[in-house]
Amino acid sequence: MYKTIVIGTGPAGLTAAIYLARANLNPLVIEGPEPGGQLTTTTEVENFPGFPDGIMGPELMDNMRKQAERFGAEFKTGWVNEIDLGSRPFKLTVEGIGELVAESVIISTGASAKLLGIPNEKDSIGRGVSTCATCDGFFFRGKKIIVVGGGDSAMEEANFLTRFASEVEIVHRRNELRASKIMQDRARENEKIKWSLNRTPLEVISDDKGVKALKVMNNETNQEEVIETDGIFVAIGHTPNTGFLGGQIQTDDLGYIVVKPGTTETNIPGVFACGDVQDHKYRQAITAAGSGCMAALDCEKFLEGSMVHDWSETLNS
Ligand code: NAP
Repeated sequence: MYKTIVIGTGPAGLTAAIYLARANLNPLVIEGPEPGGQLTTTTEVENFPGFPDGIMGPELMDNMRKQAERFGAEFKTGWVNEIDLGSRPFKLTVEGIGELVAESVIISTGASAKLLGIPNEKDSIGRGVSTCATCDGFFFRGKKIIVVGGGDSAMEEANFLTRFASEVEIVHRRNELRASKIMQDRARENEKIKWSLNRTPLEVISDDKGVKALKVMNNETNQEEVIETDGIFVAIGHTPNTGFLGGQIQTDDLGYIVVKPGTTETNIPGVFACGDVQDHKYRQAITAAGSGCMAALDCEKFLEGSMVHDWSETLNS
């Protein structure tokens, strides 16, 4: 029986593990298929405080993991197939580990950026293809960039990227945008933004130096076109990793876990959520780490028996 199990090892889960371990709660941390989370798919991280010269994403995550281990966090690799949150203690069935039982659970399984699924896209991540403008925009100073997508994220990222890029071209598969009017207007008013609507991405074209172009299908003419570019930002949405919960925890319309504002409490007492799995707004390593700290402190309070659960009653009613 564990006092607490942390599921997920991005900045949120690892920060929770550091705090829990330092509080002598001996957390078990379950590492899934992408240890370290989304930051391990980026190169240099320049906006995580404390690293004036920047730090490579994988190194930052490795440091956090070592820090948690140093204070006694235990790590196991596995995939949570099933979780029973119906009564305490909670039961987890983890592929590669077996059955686990815990008094409390911290969910920090993150969200995965959706990809287009076209040839050469995945292999080019970190070498010209990115899913995070805030993380990687700076590396494209004076360059030409494509943003794929027609939603609010694409508009926001395109606008943001014009701070660095010489030109940003929005490539969207339909003629109409999904984005809200205000976000569309903002993008349309931006002189650095060009539009390639009605074009479906087909293939990322690159050489040893990085991305060179995006091949698209022009849906009006049914002809293939090649749009030259130095970088491609895929902004077609994120999927929160909540499938394994089987609907036992309250989520919003987009599938993100609902927490009591200002806390990490879910609708189930003893279950806490932190990081991108409960945040589709900020989605930064530092905000995830901050919420991981909150989850550990909330969890500690819960285990001490000093947490009042009026929130879960409200949500469950
Ligand atoms: P979204 O609204 O689901 O838009 C995704 C866009 O990507 C759509 O235009 C979609 O095309 C396109 N797309 C999806 N799969 C594709 C594929 N395989 N190939 C090509 N294009 C594809 O996602 P989002 O923009 O990330 O927004 C998610 C939510 O967060 C929304 O509720 C949004 O309002 C909110 N948000 C708000 C703000 C803000 O207010 N500041 C900023 C960002 C996000 P189709 O249109 O053809 O389906």
